[in-house]
Amino acid sequence: MSMPMETITEVTELERAGFLWRGGEAGVRALVCGPLEDEGFANAFSTRAGGVSPFPAGALNLAGFDQDARENILENRRRFFGALGGEWRFSGCWQVHGAGVRVVGPPPDEESERERCDALATREPGVLLGVKTADCVPVLLGDARTGACAAVHAGWRGTLQEIVPRALSKMAEEFGTRAADVRAAIGPAARACCYEVGAEVIEAFRAKFPRADSLFAPTREGHALVDLHAANREQLVAAGVAAARVHAAPLCTICRPDLFFSYRRDRKLHGRTGRLLSVIGRKVPSSKLKTGGF
Ligand SMILES: [Zn+2]
Repeated sequence: MSMPMETITEVTELERAGFLWRGGEAGVRALVCGPLEDEGFANAFSTRAGGVSPFPAGALNLAGFDQDARENILENRRRFFGALGGEWRFSGCWQVHGAGVRVVGPPPDEESERERCDALATREPGVLLGVKTADCVPVLLGDARTGACAAVHAGWRGTLQEIVPRALSKMAEEFGTRAADVRAAIGPAARACCYEVGAEVIEAFRAKFPRADSLFAPTREGHALVDLHAANREQLVAAGVAAARVHAAPLCTICRPDLFFSYRRDRKLHGRTGRLLSVIGRKVPSSKLKTGGF
């Protein structure tokens, strides 16, 4: 696979935001939040290359069993998880743009992807939590003090329903997490450069966010570009997470077709889109770590 056309400026911007690229087999590339990893949480946001799915050819499609062959998705996941090193039990969910948070514990839940919710939390080492997106905002949370972590799917509907603060509340309730100890990584998503919404969304945000107008840049009549990264950052900070511990990847799924799937863009072009996966977990200390694969 050819390297994406990122410039030195872009890599510097990524590093400043707290992110780095990590390669895997067959050209797989994952975006990793360095500070979250430094605190003990393996984490990765996927990109589109290095897979076996026809979205188009060679796509690393990581979900959507109704649109892609099961063996393709499982092979793509094996390659993507391989970039993390270690051994994992993956736990996902059937995402419904809601506000449900599910706690994942032992034993492994093989059927997890049939359970409907939009955020997962755990304190079990070896459990890899994942949310799938293609424009929506993936948010990963890690609390090094208790060892708890969470993966959250926050599109505009989930953001309005405060899915990220709800995940933090669930971590507090279940694991004793304090927001001040949390580190958060906001992944690639449809950003303010591209994500235009209509009056219905604008009005819903105005009713919910005191400073909603700062999240919108008007375009044509009744439409505006919305900054969901900023909205989720505001919710994290309002919930007590220090602004310096919130890292947002400066990458947009809509205007970077070289790197990401985008529901909005790909649906028009190809009639369907692949799915990205954002994962977080704590490694089992005793497991044999793969080295040299990075
Ligand atoms: Zn964009």
